[in-house]
Amino acid sequence: MTEATPIDETAAGFSERYGRAPVGVWSAPGRVNLIGEHTDYNDGFVFPFAIDQRAVVALGARDDRVVRVSSTFTPEAVEIHLDDLTPESLDGWSAYPLGVAWALGQFGADLSTVPGVDLHISSSVPVGAGLSSSAAIESSIALALDDHWNLGLDRPTLAKVGQLAENRVVGAPTGILDQSASLLSHADAAVFLDCRSLDAEVIPLGLVADGLSILVIDTNVTHAHATGGYAARRASCESGAKTLGVESLRDVHVGDLDRAATVLDEETFRRVRHIVSENQRVLDTVRTLREHGAGAIGPLLDASHVSMRDDFEITVPEIDLAVSTAQAHGAIGARMTGGGFGGSAIALVIDALVPVIEREVRAAFAEQGYRAPTTFVVRPSEGARRDA
Ligand code: ADP
Ligand code: MG
Repeated sequence: MTEATPIDETAAGFSERYGRAPVGVWSAPGRVNLIGEHTDYNDGFVFPFAIDQRAVVALGARDDRVVRVSSTFTPEAVEIHLDDLTPESLDGWSAYPLGVAWALGQFGADLSTVPGVDLHISSSVPVGAGLSSSAAIESSIALALDDHWNLGLDRPTLAKVGQLAENRVVGAPTGILDQSASLLSHADAAVFLDCRSLDAEVIPLGLVADGLSILVIDTNVTHAHATGGYAARRASCESGAKTLGVESLRDVHVGDLDRAATVLDEETFRRVRHIVSENQRVLDTVRTLREHGAGAIGPLLDASHVSMRDDFEITVPEIDLAVSTAQAHGAIGARMTGGGFGGSAIALVIDALVPVIEREVRAAFAEQGYRAPTTFVVRPSEGARRDA
């Protein structure tokens, strides 16, 4: 007998809950940002890839206008009439999937005529590990509803739908990075995204051919001030752009930094320098990949980490230890990934060194008395798709 896939399991979970088979199954992945941190809301560049952990959603048709949603993540199922769908009517975990249903209406879908649906979700993306379990949910639901309701929205628009749900319904002021990665990625590639024009280009990583892996080190640390810290960094960036007289920090270049230092206060200058240098590092990473392959991007990953640690100040001691230990034991490059104040680091590693680095990081954490990290390899994978 072959093993049940997450697709079969989610379909079976749907049948168990709703007493009939789903009409289809869709999935969308979480993501890792290879480089380009906090640049998205500064109209800059990011370079994420989708991972092989995915949210899977089974969808069943209904004759009425009711939407029901359940998830293996929680015993709490939610039911709402499509006429009652407003940002204010949604809270808790269902703000993600039902927020997407509402947001589709904001991008041209006529929700007054579509039929209701039953939805059942199961996801292998760990929550709160900096791998965007939220975008995986949003993107899988967006694609499923777009298909089922024949809306014909393209993927960049579906990414905006997920972002709007997160901004307006969940209330998290996040950029377009996560949803774009989840919807636009291809296997063994990353998405070079210009967050101003929203132009996206899929760039092959060639990790398989080069015998390289990306190891995630989840510190299992989430700091209470993560949300406040994120908002404070956004505010610094906005104030820096205002003082420099530009629309956003995207318009400031490395060569402008000397002048910026003379007009900004010391802290704002360091925040600005992170964004400006990080944008340049994303461009350099894409060029280096094309010219020399993934084995050559290590110094850019390392420099990104130093910038997040010293200039943007969004790392924590556990993350810094994960990065320095990986670097000390042969990683090609390593950096924190995600919004910061906890979460995960990534290390680009020769396949054979993965177990060595996992062991050394675990030992270093134990020595410091830190909670044990969770480590796993992620494979750059295909974006959202219909599975059944
Ligand atoms: P992350 O960094 O993982 O995206 P967020 O705080 O942005 O963290 O999103 C996590 C939230 O997304 C969870 O608290 C929950 O509300 C929702 N979520 C994630 N995975 C699931 C799931 N499998 N089922 C239901 N909701 C989920
Ligand atoms: Mg999230």
